[in-house]
Amino acid sequence: MKRTHHCSELRPAHIGQTVTLAGWVHSRRDLGGLIFVDVRDREGRTQSVFDPALVTKEVFERASSLRSESVVAITGKVRHRPEGTNNSKIPSGEVEVVAQDLELLNQAEVLPFPVDDPEVASKVNEELRLQYRYLDLRRPEMSRNLRLRSKVATATRVFLDEQGFLEVETPLLFKSTPEGAREFLVPSRIHPGQFYALPQSPQQFKQILMVAGVERYFQLARCFRDEDQRADRQLEFTQVDLEMSFIDRQDIYDLIEGLLKRVWKTALNMDISTPFKRISYQEAMDRFGIDKPDTRFGFELVDLTEDFRASTFKVFSGAIANGGVVKAINAKGLADATQGQIETMTEYAKSFGAKGLAFIKVEKGEWKSPIVKFFSETEKAALTQKLAIQEGDLILFAADQWLNACEILGRIRLYCAEVLKTQGRLTIESNRFDFLWVVDFPLLTFDKEQNRWYSSHHPFTAPVAEDVPLLQTEPRKVRGQHYDIVVNGTELGGGSIRIHQPAVQKTIFEQVLQIPPEMVQARFGYMLEAFKYGAPPHGGIALGFDRMIAILCGTPSIRDVIAFPKTAKGTDLMTDSPTTVEPKQLRDLHIQLKVPQKEIPPTAPAS
Ligand code: ASP
Repeated sequence: MKRTHHCSELRPAHIGQTVTLAGWVHSRRDLGGLIFVDVRDREGRTQSVFDPALVTKEVFERASSLRSESVVAITGKVRHRPEGTNNSKIPSGEVEVVAQDLELLNQAEVLPFPVDDPEVASKVNEELRLQYRYLDLRRPEMSRNLRLRSKVATATRVFLDEQGFLEVETPLLFKSTPEGAREFLVPSRIHPGQFYALPQSPQQFKQILMVAGVERYFQLARCFRDEDQRADRQLEFTQVDLEMSFIDRQDIYDLIEGLLKRVWKTALNMDISTPFKRISYQEAMDRFGIDKPDTRFGFELVDLTEDFRASTFKVFSGAIANGGVVKAINAKGLADATQGQIETMTEYAKSFGAKGLAFIKVEKGEWKSPIVKFFSETEKAALTQKLAIQEGDLILFAADQWLNACEILGRIRLYCAEVLKTQGRLTIESNRFDFLWVVDFPLLTFDKEQNRWYSSHHPFTAPVAEDVPLLQTEPRKVRGQHYDIVVNGTELGGGSIRIHQPAVQKTIFEQVLQIPPEMVQARFGYMLEAFKYGAPPHGGIALGFDRMIAILCGTPSIRDVIAFPKTAKGTDLMTDSPTTVEPKQLRDLHIQLKVPQKEIPPTAPAS
């Protein structure tokens, strides 16, 4: 029995036709001597009905013993559903198939969790969903996510092809370049004691492709980072990675705005407006306390340094005397914050090294706060005016070095918005997308622990031309030609215009980043060499593809848009990896384990 239609296809126009549907038993109900079987495939479902008067005894018995999620093929005649039994929730809900024959293609065992009821399914614990991922992926929401992902991947390819990009694959077995995140190493059997590394991104290869004259490269590239798993990261993930020659920053902005316009149209049928706003790193930190601001709500950071420079309140004036700043936010309407919420915010402040968190609750016309008594009338007037203080507001302060003060309030700002959102007091429309370019990042960041500068983005990022003279004298002030694309407070991607002159690149490695010349040669020598033979000016960007799809699907978790993701501990619960390996495999790789016996899982083969 070959299927004639998919399970969401039949309409009143098909009435009278004999059809065959194939799929999974979504549900089976025995009602008044009839058996109703809803058969479901990727597209949807259709009701079929088995009447003992119309099918053989054998077929009827087969239908009555069907278990949920068994695979069947059903042949029968399409008819109108009886008066009053239409199901308006499904597109095929006006008709049903009166079964003539039923083939049981595969009986299913009782499932570890139901997939037919979205309510129940959404409450299933994620570990169980990951262990039986193939069942989880049968759920309509998950199958929608996979489809949307596929559609967006295709739209991306088509768009970039139209723009003259070549899709080029780059190696997964790469060389270890331990400058960024920790890498996954792959031992070489043929070269004892030597290793490949899985790429953290195709960065070096795409730049070399520019030297190779490709001019416009892209790839939906798999990247690997062996990092301790933060909430929503994966050890392997996908980037829309691209690189272009003979361009400047504006070309990248135009290209990515065009691409995202196409993607949003394809995925959500939504017209997003371009060009996107641009904000400097400095301004983003100053106003939002974060380099990926969510601009969908207010509570912006306000600077009060000048107002408190001469204050008798030493916590503020002292911080300023130390070269710091005083900043505050007005969490509008949150004066009723609970003790617990204030404690959570205080913990955030402390995690950045602050001693505590100063705040004012504006309730019943009064400023409730242990610190208000130290403020002069002028200081109070400045606060009222700059923060537009009103009844019911909660004012939160940070007095610290600029970056710290910004980061503390940036974190607290997001927390306050979250609290108000959960309480229904702050509404952000789900179809609102605030795109933003964050630009003019500092090229370098100082690492106090290691007492050295490191690249804010990566060491191939070009400095802003007019800042180059400051490289040796005031590295802190050098801006990088780096840009991040942000939407609703999430970093969607980032990139930069690159250094294309080998001498400048060498200076950055050796003199600014202080990597010893032998190490530069060993790690990046091939790149410096390539750049000697005519490297065009170039730049590029990479977008986090998983993250973008999660945003389009409206899910907070990237695991919901990856077919087979790993848990936060980096394990694959379905295939049960990672695992131990046979001693012979290790011998072939010239590897001897030094893992304490007690740390090896009991299933490990004896060595
Ligand atoms: N390779 C960079 C990254 O993964 C992106 C870029 O600079 O193009 O962040």
